[in-house]
Amino acid sequence: MASNEFQPLQGMSDIQAPEIHVWRMMEERARALFNSYGFEELRTPVLEKLSVFQRSLGDTTDVVKKEMYSFKPSKHELAMRPEGTAGTIRHLAGRGEEGLNARVFYIAPMFRYERPQAGRKRQFHQVGVEATGEPNPLADAECIALQKGLLDSWGLTGSKIQLSTRGEPSDRQPVVDGLRAALQPFENALCEDCQRRIDENVLRVIDCKNESCKKIVDQIPSAIEFMSDASRAYLDQVVGALDKMGIEVTVNPKLIRGLDYYVHTVWEISHSALGAQDALAGGGRYEIALGKKAVPGVGFAVGFERAIMALEACGVTADQFAPKGGVWLVSLGEAALAENMKLAAQLRAKGIRCGMELAAKSMKAQMRKANRVGADSVIIRGDDEIEKGVAMVKDMAEGSQKESTIEEILRDA
Ligand code: AMP
Repeated sequence: MASNEFQPLQGMSDIQAPEIHVWRMMEERARALFNSYGFEELRTPVLEKLSVFQRSLGDTTDVVKKEMYSFKPSKHELAMRPEGTAGTIRHLAGRGEEGLNARVFYIAPMFRYERPQAGRKRQFHQVGVEATGEPNPLADAECIALQKGLLDSWGLTGSKIQLSTRGEPSDRQPVVDGLRAALQPFENALCEDCQRRIDENVLRVIDCKNESCKKIVDQIPSAIEFMSDASRAYLDQVVGALDKMGIEVTVNPKLIRGLDYYVHTVWEISHSALGAQDALAGGGRYEIALGKKAVPGVGFAVGFERAIMALEACGVTADQFAPKGGVWLVSLGEAALAENMKLAAQLRAKGIRCGMELAAKSMKAQMRKANRVGADSVIIRGDDEIEKGVAMVKDMAEGSQKESTIEEILRDA
Protein backbone atom coordinates (compact mmCIF):
# COMPACT_ATOMS: atom_id res chain seq x y z
CA MET A 1 0.00 0.00 0.00
CA ALA A 2 1.17 3.55 -0.71
CA SER A 3 3.03 5.23 2.12
CA ASN A 4 0.74 8.25 1.90
CA GLU A 5 -2.28 6.11 2.67
CA PHE A 6 -3.12 8.27 5.69
CA GLN A 7 -2.31 11.64 4.13
CA PRO A 8 -4.90 14.02 2.71
CA LEU A 9 -4.57 14.95 -0.98
CA GLN A 10 -1.66 17.12 -2.05
CA GLY A 11 -2.28 20.78 -1.23
CA MET A 12 -4.93 19.91 1.35
CA SER A 13 -4.66 19.54 5.12
CA ASP A 14 -6.33 17.98 8.10
CA ILE A 15 -6.70 20.72 10.67
CA GLN A 16 -6.34 19.30 14.14
CA ALA A 17 -5.63 20.36 17.73
CA PRO A 18 -3.78 22.36 18.85
CA GLU A 19 -3.80 24.34 15.57
CA ILE A 20 -7.61 24.20 15.41
CA HIS A 21 -7.81 26.43 18.50
CA VAL A 22 -6.44 29.42 16.64
CA TRP A 23 -8.94 28.77 13.81
CA ARG A 24 -11.78 28.78 16.31
CA MET A 25 -10.55 31.98 17.95
CA MET A 26 -10.43 33.63 14.52
CA GLU A 27 -13.89 32.41 13.58
CA GLU A 28 -15.45 33.47 16.88
CA ARG A 29 -13.94 36.95 16.79
CA ALA A 30 -14.89 37.34 13.12
CA ARG A 31 -18.53 36.47 13.87
CA ALA A 32 -18.66 38.91 16.80
CA LEU A 33 -17.14 41.73 14.75
CA PHE A 34 -19.40 41.15 11.72
CA ASN A 35 -22.39 41.17 14.04
CA SER A 36 -21.35 44.59 15.34
CA TYR A 37 -21.32 45.87 11.73
CA GLY A 38 -24.74 44.32 10.97
CA PHE A 39 -23.54 41.55 8.61
CA GLU A 40 -25.47 38.24 8.56
CA GLU A 41 -23.81 34.89 7.91
CA LEU A 42 -24.48 33.16 4.58
CA ARG A 43 -23.57 29.54 3.79
CA THR A 44 -23.77 28.72 0.09
CA PRO A 45 -23.06 25.25 -1.37
CA VAL A 46 -19.50 24.25 -2.26
CA LEU A 47 -20.72 23.22 -5.73
CA GLU A 48 -22.22 25.66 -8.23
CA LYS A 49 -22.86 25.53 -11.95
CA LEU A 50 -19.56 26.28 -13.67
CA SER A 51 -21.29 29.17 -15.45
CA VAL A 52 -21.75 31.01 -12.10
CA PHE A 53 -17.96 31.42 -11.93
CA GLN A 54 -17.36 31.88 -15.67
CA ARG A 55 -19.85 34.73 -15.90
CA SER A 56 -18.73 36.63 -12.82
CA LEU A 57 -14.97 36.06 -12.61
CA GLY A 58 -14.44 36.21 -16.39
CA ASP A 59 -13.46 33.56 -18.93
CA THR A 60 -9.84 34.66 -19.34
CA THR A 61 -8.85 34.73 -15.67
CA ASP A 62 -6.35 32.16 -14.42
CA VAL A 63 -8.78 30.93 -11.79
CA VAL A 64 -11.45 30.07 -14.38
CA LYS A 65 -9.10 28.92 -17.14
CA LYS A 66 -6.70 26.74 -15.19
CA GLU A 67 -7.60 26.32 -11.54
CA MET A 68 -11.16 25.07 -11.23
CA TYR A 69 -12.14 21.64 -9.95
CA SER A 70 -14.95 21.06 -12.41
CA PHE A 71 -16.82 17.98 -13.61
CA LYS A 72 -20.01 17.06 -15.39
CA PRO A 73 -22.05 14.46 -13.51
CA SER A 74 -25.18 15.07 -15.63
CA LYS A 75 -26.56 17.88 -17.77
CA HIS A 76 -24.69 20.79 -16.21
CA GLU A 77 -20.99 21.27 -15.77
CA LEU A 78 -20.32 21.94 -12.06
CA ALA A 79 -17.41 23.45 -10.19
CA MET A 80 -16.20 23.60 -6.61
CA ARG A 81 -16.05 27.23 -5.59
CA PRO A 82 -12.62 28.85 -6.03
CA GLU A 83 -13.77 31.99 -4.17
CA GLY A 84 -16.77 33.22 -2.24
CA THR A 85 -18.12 36.22 -4.12
CA ALA A 86 -19.68 34.56 -7.19
CA GLY A 87 -21.87 32.15 -5.18
CA THR A 88 -22.83 34.85 -2.71
CA ILE A 89 -23.95 37.16 -5.50
CA ARG A 90 -25.77 34.31 -7.25
CA HIS A 91 -27.72 33.93 -4.00
CA LEU A 92 -28.33 37.66 -3.41
CA ALA A 93 -29.46 38.21 -7.02
CA GLY A 94 -32.23 35.71 -6.35
CA ARG A 95 -33.46 37.67 -3.32
CA GLY A 96 -34.84 40.56 -5.37
CA GLU A 97 -34.64 44.16 -4.17
CA GLU A 98 -33.53 43.17 -0.68
CA GLY A 99 -30.55 41.29 -2.10
CA LEU A 100 -29.35 44.49 -3.74
CA ASN A 101 -28.85 46.11 -0.35
CA ALA A 102 -27.55 43.29 1.81
CA ARG A 103 -24.60 42.75 4.15
CA VAL A 104 -23.44 39.15 4.41
CA PHE A 105 -20.32 37.27 5.46
CA TYR A 106 -19.01 33.76 4.92
CA ILE A 107 -16.37 31.52 6.45
CA ALA A 108 -15.76 28.67 4.04
CA PRO A 109 -13.31 26.36 2.24
CA MET A 110 -12.26 27.29 -1.31
CA PHE A 111 -10.71 25.05 -3.98
CA ARG A 112 -8.14 25.92 -6.62
CA TYR A 113 -6.07 23.46 -8.61
CA GLU A 114 -2.80 25.37 -8.23
CA ARG A 115 0.76 24.13 -7.81
CA PRO A 116 1.03 23.74 -4.04
CA GLN A 117 3.80 25.62 -2.25
CA ALA A 118 4.27 27.47 1.04
CA GLY A 119 1.15 29.57 1.54
CA ARG A 120 -0.55 28.17 -1.55
CA LYS A 121 -2.95 25.30 -1.10
CA ARG A 122 -5.56 23.52 -3.18
CA GLN A 123 -8.10 23.62 -0.39
CA PHE A 124 -7.80 26.80 1.62
CA HIS A 125 -10.19 28.78 3.73
CA GLN A 126 -11.46 32.31 3.52
CA VAL A 127 -13.45 34.64 5.67
CA GLY A 128 -15.12 37.28 3.55
CA VAL A 129 -17.91 39.83 3.38
CA GLU A 130 -20.07 41.27 0.62
CA ALA A 131 -22.07 44.49 0.96
CA THR A 132 -24.29 45.06 -2.06
CA GLY A 133 -25.39 48.54 -3.12
CA GLU A 134 -24.61 51.23 -5.66
CA PRO A 135 -21.01 52.55 -5.77
CA ASN A 136 -20.27 54.75 -2.77
CA PRO A 137 -16.74 55.63 -1.64
CA LEU A 138 -17.84 55.50 2.00
CA ALA A 139 -19.06 51.91 1.60
CA ASP A 140 -15.63 50.94 0.20
CA ALA A 141 -13.86 52.73 3.07
CA GLU A 142 -16.12 51.02 5.62
CA CYS A 143 -15.36 47.64 4.07
CA ILE A 144 -11.62 48.25 4.36
CA ALA A 145 -12.06 49.48 7.96
CA LEU A 146 -13.97 46.29 8.78
CA GLN A 147 -11.22 44.16 7.26
CA LYS A 148 -8.55 46.03 9.20
CA GLY A 149 -10.67 45.65 12.35
CA LEU A 150 -10.81 41.92 11.72
CA LEU A 151 -7.02 41.62 11.52
CA ASP A 152 -6.70 43.77 14.67
CA SER A 153 -9.20 41.58 16.54
CA TRP A 154 -6.95 38.57 15.86
CA GLY A 155 -3.86 40.40 17.11
CA LEU A 156 -2.38 40.62 13.60
CA THR A 157 -0.10 43.64 13.31
CA GLY A 158 2.30 44.84 10.64
CA SER A 159 0.11 44.32 7.58
CA LYS A 160 0.13 46.83 4.71
CA ILE A 161 -2.84 47.95 2.64
CA GLN A 162 -2.32 48.86 -1.01
CA LEU A 163 -5.15 50.46 -2.89
CA SER A 164 -5.96 51.27 -6.49
CA THR A 165 -8.89 51.72 -8.83
CA ARG A 166 -10.19 49.89 -11.87
CA GLY A 167 -12.37 52.90 -12.69
CA GLU A 168 -15.94 53.04 -13.90
CA PRO A 169 -17.14 50.41 -16.41
CA SER A 170 -17.01 53.12 -19.13
CA ASP A 171 -13.28 53.58 -18.44
CA ARG A 172 -12.53 50.01 -19.36
CA GLN A 173 -12.13 50.50 -23.10
CA PRO A 174 -10.06 53.71 -22.88
CA VAL A 175 -7.77 51.98 -20.35
CA VAL A 176 -7.36 48.90 -22.55
CA ASP A 177 -6.75 51.00 -25.66
CA GLY A 178 -4.35 53.33 -23.83
CA LEU A 179 -2.29 50.50 -22.31
CA ARG A 180 -2.16 48.55 -25.59
CA ALA A 181 -0.91 51.60 -27.44
CA ALA A 182 1.67 52.34 -24.74
CA LEU A 183 2.92 48.73 -24.72
CA GLN A 184 3.05 48.26 -28.50
CA PRO A 185 6.62 49.63 -28.94
CA PHE A 186 7.88 47.15 -26.29
CA GLU A 187 5.89 44.13 -27.44
CA ASN A 188 8.86 41.99 -28.45
CA ALA A 189 10.62 42.58 -25.13
CA LEU A 190 7.63 41.30 -23.10
CA CYS A 191 7.51 37.71 -21.83
CA GLU A 192 5.60 35.19 -23.94
CA ASP A 193 2.57 35.27 -21.63
CA CYS A 194 2.40 39.05 -21.79
CA GLN A 195 2.65 39.12 -25.57
CA ARG A 196 -0.55 37.07 -25.54
CA ARG A 197 -2.05 39.16 -22.71
CA ILE A 198 -1.77 42.40 -24.71
CA ASP A 199 -4.71 41.20 -26.81
CA GLU A 200 -6.39 38.93 -24.32
CA ASN A 201 -6.26 40.78 -20.98
CA VAL A 202 -3.86 43.70 -21.11
CA LEU A 203 -4.30 44.60 -17.42
CA ARG A 204 -2.51 41.37 -16.53
CA VAL A 205 0.66 42.72 -18.15
CA ILE A 206 0.70 45.42 -15.47
CA ASP A 207 1.04 42.94 -12.59
CA CYS A 208 3.33 40.44 -14.38
CA LYS A 209 6.08 39.26 -12.03
CA ASN A 210 8.68 38.92 -14.81
CA GLU A 211 11.54 41.41 -14.26
CA SER A 212 11.77 42.61 -17.89
CA CYS A 213 7.99 43.13 -18.06
CA LYS A 214 8.14 45.09 -14.78
CA LYS A 215 10.77 47.40 -16.25
CA ILE A 216 8.60 48.11 -19.29
CA VAL A 217 5.52 48.74 -17.14
CA ASP A 218 7.53 51.30 -15.15
CA GLN A 219 8.07 53.30 -18.35
CA ILE A 220 4.45 53.56 -19.50
CA PRO A 221 1.59 55.62 -18.00
CA SER A 222 -0.44 53.86 -15.30
CA ALA A 223 -3.98 52.60 -15.99
CA ILE A 224 -5.36 55.39 -13.78
CA GLU A 225 -4.06 57.98 -16.21
CA PHE A 226 -6.48 56.72 -18.88
CA MET A 227 -9.49 56.96 -16.56
CA SER A 228 -12.16 59.64 -16.22
CA ASP A 229 -11.98 62.48 -13.68
CA ALA A 230 -14.99 60.94 -11.89
CA SER A 231 -13.08 57.69 -11.31
CA ARG A 232 -10.07 59.55 -9.94
CA ALA A 233 -12.32 61.64 -7.67
CA TYR A 234 -13.94 58.44 -6.37
CA LEU A 235 -10.53 57.03 -5.46
CA ASP A 236 -9.62 60.29 -3.68
CA GLN A 237 -12.82 60.10 -1.63
CA VAL A 238 -12.06 56.54 -0.52
CA VAL A 239 -8.54 57.54 0.51
CA GLY A 240 -9.90 60.64 2.31
CA ALA A 241 -12.48 58.63 4.27
CA LEU A 242 -9.84 56.10 5.33
CA ASP A 243 -7.52 58.89 6.38
CA LYS A 244 -10.28 60.32 8.62
CA MET A 245 -10.62 56.91 10.30
CA GLY A 246 -6.87 56.74 10.84
CA ILE A 247 -6.34 53.83 8.44
CA GLU A 248 -3.08 54.00 6.55
CA VAL A 249 -3.09 52.94 2.90
CA THR A 250 -0.69 53.28 -0.03
CA VAL A 251 -2.10 54.03 -3.47
CA ASN A 252 -0.39 51.71 -5.95
CA PRO A 253 -1.66 52.13 -9.54
CA LYS A 254 0.05 48.85 -10.51
CA LEU A 255 -2.24 46.87 -8.27
CA ILE A 256 -4.69 45.18 -10.64
CA ARG A 257 -6.32 42.14 -9.01
CA GLY A 258 -6.99 39.52 -11.63
CA LEU A 259 -10.75 39.19 -11.77
CA ASP A 260 -12.95 40.82 -14.42
CA TYR A 261 -15.80 41.87 -12.17
CA TYR A 262 -13.98 44.71 -10.37
CA VAL A 263 -14.89 48.39 -10.83
CA HIS A 264 -13.54 51.36 -8.87
CA THR A 265 -11.72 50.46 -5.67
CA VAL A 266 -9.47 47.39 -5.45
CA TRP A 267 -7.04 46.61 -2.66
CA GLU A 268 -4.69 44.01 -1.31
CA ILE A 269 -3.24 43.49 2.16
CA SER A 270 0.21 41.99 2.45
CA HIS A 271 2.43 40.88 5.32
CA SER A 272 6.19 40.59 5.28
CA ALA A 273 6.13 37.30 7.23
CA LEU A 274 4.53 35.50 4.29
CA GLY A 275 7.50 35.35 1.91
CA ALA A 276 6.81 34.97 -1.82
CA GLN A 277 3.04 34.53 -1.40
CA ASP A 278 2.72 37.70 0.65
CA ALA A 279 -0.93 38.51 -0.15
CA LEU A 280 -2.82 38.08 3.07
CA ALA A 281 -6.13 39.38 1.85
CA GLY A 282 -7.82 41.19 -0.99
CA GLY A 283 -10.93 43.08 -1.76
CA GLY A 284 -12.68 45.36 -4.14
CA ARG A 285 -15.79 46.89 -5.56
CA TYR A 286 -17.50 44.92 -8.29
CA GLU A 287 -20.42 44.80 -10.61
CA ILE A 288 -21.42 41.24 -11.33
CA ALA A 289 -23.77 40.53 -14.23
CA LEU A 290 -25.94 37.46 -13.73
CA GLY A 291 -28.47 37.01 -16.52
CA LYS A 292 -30.25 40.31 -16.99
CA LYS A 293 -29.27 41.52 -13.56
CA ALA A 294 -26.12 43.40 -12.60
CA VAL A 295 -25.38 43.32 -8.90
CA PRO A 296 -23.13 46.10 -7.56
CA GLY A 297 -21.28 45.64 -4.29
CA VAL A 298 -18.04 45.69 -2.37
CA GLY A 299 -16.32 42.92 -0.46
CA PHE A 300 -13.13 41.35 0.81
CA ALA A 301 -11.64 37.94 1.56
CA VAL A 302 -8.92 37.01 4.01
CA GLY A 303 -7.12 33.68 3.71
CA PHE A 304 -7.04 31.78 7.01
CA GLU A 305 -3.89 29.79 6.30
CA ARG A 306 -1.87 32.88 5.44
CA ALA A 307 -3.35 34.88 8.32
CA ILE A 308 -2.24 32.10 10.69
CA MET A 309 1.32 32.26 9.29
CA ALA A 310 1.34 36.03 9.88
CA LEU A 311 -0.15 35.60 13.36
CA GLU A 312 2.67 33.24 14.29
CA ALA A 313 5.14 35.96 13.34
CA CYS A 314 3.18 38.30 15.67
CA GLY A 315 3.57 35.80 18.53
CA VAL A 316 -0.07 34.65 18.43
CA THR A 317 -0.08 30.85 18.58
CA ALA A 318 -2.71 28.14 18.90
CA ASP A 319 -1.55 27.02 22.37
CA GLN A 320 -2.77 30.31 23.83
CA PHE A 321 -6.32 29.34 22.88
CA ALA A 322 -6.31 25.64 23.81
CA PRO A 323 -8.98 24.76 26.38
CA LYS A 324 -7.52 24.42 29.87
CA GLY A 325 -8.64 23.99 33.43
CA GLY A 326 -11.78 22.25 34.60
CA VAL A 327 -12.20 19.21 36.80
CA TRP A 328 -10.86 15.66 36.68
CA LEU A 329 -12.79 12.96 38.52
CA VAL A 330 -10.80 10.14 40.10
CA SER A 331 -12.70 6.93 40.83
CA LEU A 332 -11.43 4.24 43.21
CA GLY A 333 -13.64 1.17 42.72
CA GLU A 334 -16.71 0.20 40.70
CA ALA A 335 -19.24 2.16 42.79
CA ALA A 336 -17.21 5.38 42.55
CA LEU A 337 -16.88 4.92 38.79
CA ALA A 338 -20.67 4.73 38.38
CA GLU A 339 -21.32 7.69 40.74
CA ASN A 340 -18.66 9.80 39.03
CA MET A 341 -20.38 9.22 35.67
CA LYS A 342 -23.44 10.90 37.17
CA LEU A 343 -21.44 13.73 38.78
CA ALA A 344 -19.55 14.37 35.50
CA ALA A 345 -22.85 14.75 33.63
CA GLN A 346 -24.10 17.20 36.29
CA LEU A 347 -20.91 19.30 36.12
CA ARG A 348 -20.91 19.27 32.31
CA ALA A 349 -24.54 20.43 32.32
CA LYS A 350 -23.25 23.49 34.19
CA GLY A 351 -20.75 24.07 31.35
CA ILE A 352 -17.74 22.84 33.31
CA ARG A 353 -14.96 21.07 31.41
CA CYS A 354 -14.82 17.74 33.11
CA GLY A 355 -13.19 14.38 32.47
CA MET A 356 -12.61 10.95 34.00
CA GLU A 357 -11.24 7.53 33.14
CA LEU A 358 -14.03 5.16 32.08
CA ALA A 359 -12.13 2.03 33.14
CA ALA A 360 -10.57 1.06 36.47
CA LYS A 361 -7.08 2.60 36.74
CA SER A 362 -4.67 3.17 39.61
CA MET A 363 -4.84 6.39 41.61
CA LYS A 364 -1.39 7.31 40.27
CA ALA A 365 -2.41 6.84 36.64
CA GLN A 366 -5.56 8.91 37.15
CA MET A 367 -3.65 11.77 38.81
CA ARG A 368 -1.12 11.74 35.97
CA LYS A 369 -3.98 12.18 33.50
CA ALA A 370 -5.40 15.06 35.58
CA ASN A 371 -2.05 16.79 35.27
CA ARG A 372 -1.80 16.13 31.57
CA VAL A 373 -5.20 17.71 30.78
CA GLY A 374 -4.34 20.70 33.00
CA ALA A 375 -7.27 20.28 35.41
CA ASP A 376 -7.68 23.03 38.03
CA SER A 377 -9.08 20.60 40.56
CA VAL A 378 -9.48 16.87 41.11
CA ILE A 379 -12.42 15.20 42.84
CA ILE A 380 -11.49 11.84 44.39
CA ARG A 381 -13.99 9.24 45.51
CA GLY A 382 -13.76 5.63 46.76
CA ASP A 383 -16.25 3.35 48.53
CA ASP A 384 -15.99 5.25 51.86
CA GLU A 385 -16.72 8.63 50.26
CA ILE A 386 -19.66 7.21 48.29
CA GLU A 387 -21.19 5.85 51.48
CA LYS A 388 -20.83 9.21 53.27
CA GLY A 389 -21.95 11.32 50.24
CA VAL A 390 -18.66 13.24 50.19
CA ALA A 391 -15.50 13.55 48.07
CA MET A 392 -11.90 14.73 48.48
CA VAL A 393 -11.36 17.89 46.44
CA LYS A 394 -7.78 18.69 45.52
CA ASP A 395 -6.73 22.13 44.29
CA MET A 396 -4.03 21.38 41.71
CA ALA A 397 -2.35 24.79 41.84
CA GLU A 398 -2.07 24.94 45.63
CA GLY A 399 -1.80 21.19 46.26
CA SER A 400 -4.31 21.55 49.13
CA GLN A 401 -7.04 19.00 49.74
CA LYS A 402 -10.37 19.15 51.59
CA GLU A 403 -13.48 17.07 52.05
CA SER A 404 -16.74 18.42 50.58
CA THR A 405 -20.25 17.07 50.16
CA ILE A 406 -21.51 16.49 46.62
CA GLU A 407 -24.18 19.18 47.25
CA GLU A 408 -21.41 21.67 48.11
CA ILE A 409 -19.41 20.71 45.03
CA LEU A 410 -22.41 21.20 42.73
CA ARG A 411 -23.44 24.42 44.47
CA ASP A 412 -19.96 25.97 44.20
CA ALA A 413 -19.24 24.73 40.69
P1 AMP B 1 -7.96 36.04 -3.92
O1 AMP B 1 -9.40 35.62 -4.05
O2 AMP B 1 -7.06 35.31 -4.87
O3 AMP B 1 -7.74 37.51 -3.89
O4 AMP B 1 -7.50 35.52 -2.50
C1 AMP B 1 -7.83 36.17 -1.32
C2 AMP B 1 -6.95 35.62 -0.23
O5 AMP B 1 -7.16 34.21 -0.12
C3 AMP B 1 -5.46 35.75 -0.53
O6 AMP B 1 -5.00 36.99 -0.14
C4 AMP B 1 -4.89 34.63 0.30
O7 AMP B 1 -4.79 34.98 1.66
C5 AMP B 1 -5.94 33.56 0.18
N1 AMP B 1 -5.61 32.59 -0.90
C6 AMP B 1 -5.86 32.69 -2.22
N2 AMP B 1 -5.42 31.61 -2.88
C7 AMP B 1 -4.87 30.79 -1.96
C8 AMP B 1 -4.26 29.50 -1.99
N3 AMP B 1 -4.13 28.80 -3.12
N4 AMP B 1 -3.80 28.99 -0.83
C9 AMP B 1 -3.93 29.65 0.34
N5 AMP B 1 -4.51 30.86 0.44
C10 AMP B 1 -4.97 31.43 -0.68
